[in-house]
Amino acid sequence: MQDIRWNAFWVGLTLTITCLITWASTSATIALMIFAAGVVIYLFSHLYWLHRLNLWLQKPALNHMPNGAGIWEDVFASLYQEHRRHSRNQTQLSTALGRFRHAASALPDGVVVLNAENEIEWCNPPAETKLGLDLKKDQDQPITYLVRHGNFVSYVQEEDYSEPIKLKSWRNAEITLEIQLIPFGTKQKLLICRDVTQLEKIDAMRRDFIANVSHELRTPLTVVGGFVETLLDMDGAIPDSTRGYFNMMQDQTNRMRRLIEDLLTLSHIESNVQPPEDTEIQMSALLNMLLNDANALSQGKHQITVDADSNLDLIGALEELQSALGNLVSNAIRYTPQGKIQISWKVRDDHAIFSVKDDGIGIEQQHIDRLTERFYRVDRGRSRETGGTGLGLSIVKHILTRHQARLEITSELGKGSTFSVVFPKARILQKQVVLF
Ligand code: ADP
Repeated sequence: MQDIRWNAFWVGLTLTITCLITWASTSATIALMIFAAGVVIYLFSHLYWLHRLNLWLQKPALNHMPNGAGIWEDVFASLYQEHRRHSRNQTQLSTALGRFRHAASALPDGVVVLNAENEIEWCNPPAETKLGLDLKKDQDQPITYLVRHGNFVSYVQEEDYSEPIKLKSWRNAEITLEIQLIPFGTKQKLLICRDVTQLEKIDAMRRDFIANVSHELRTPLTVVGGFVETLLDMDGAIPDSTRGYFNMMQDQTNRMRRLIEDLLTLSHIESNVQPPEDTEIQMSALLNMLLNDANALSQGKHQITVDADSNLDLIGALEELQSALGNLVSNAIRYTPQGKIQISWKVRDDHAIFSVKDDGIGIEQQHIDRLTERFYRVDRGRSRETGGTGLGLSIVKHILTRHQARLEITSELGKGSTFSVVFPKARILQKQVVLF
């Protein structure tokens, strides 16, 4: 800027001095004519270079940049430097992008880049094969228009991407796909899709094995349990000195029976890839049933209350949900020697919340994240004493996952715990209130 000002100053000064000298030596008219001619030439030279700049800007290529003259030489030199830096950055960026795409294309997993509107920006060849996409045709199309699997669409819309989802491929029913969305940048998402058919097969073998063993054990156990019970009931069949051992045998067979039942339930739920049989569940009836069961289990040791939104019902599989919610209530009673149990059923931020609050023994923070693992118990002795198997919360977690719901646990040692089930909006049924 300073150069431009100096240039204009020197041109103006030279012209003025020349005109003054001409005025002094010849006449004012000639001096004025020289001044006017100088100004016009000066202006025309600027207009010429502006025109060249304008031409270049229409097709800005480095090798066609004009050299300029005078002040325009500096202007074009700066422009050249800037343009070179910009093209170098652009080359680096496109090389990096090319390298990323190359690497992502070599991945065995499908990768799809989605924008904030869930439209496809880019995908690699494995994603095309696994999800049946065609980048050339499907770019900028919403992914939910192209992958129309119900569970996938609700996964994308729910916006809870903490866990991946598993789907049977709609192109080949033999194939199981695991899909996870990972948010990045400004509301963009990376969709990772992998073929987990082999892993699923191994998992299915493990589940079948557990189910078969449990099933095989069921019959001999029923027989042994039955005989022990019969002997205990028969007058004089067992001498008093050994009756205690028989009672212990009965307790242990009962425990094993509960364990086997829970193992069978768990493997049945785990292996069931079909979505739950959705029905409209009358929550008032279900809550009533839970309250009756709770009172029977409590045997008067607890004050159990229910606080429910009577216009709020649920869509899901009744039997499964009854078992999951019932498990939370029975845990509250089993881990609360005496006290209050509050059951509540409400709407919170577009979600329906079923919660059970107790003022029982509570749980230390370090255990909370692991409670839904199979056989994870904070205190084995206590769990056993109260008839626990250590499988209850894993069954609950599986049932809730099948219903796209999640379990939230808050607890304080010695003060009590709250177990809340958060159901998604799609599973809520709000009854219409008729006003007369
Ligand atoms: P269990 O059959 O042992 O009760 P669960 O899977 O139902 O197995 O629960 C796992 C563990 O979580 C329990 O052993 C217990 O330590 C803890 N737990 C569950 N519910 C409660 C509760 N309401 N209060 C305190 N601890 C609990």
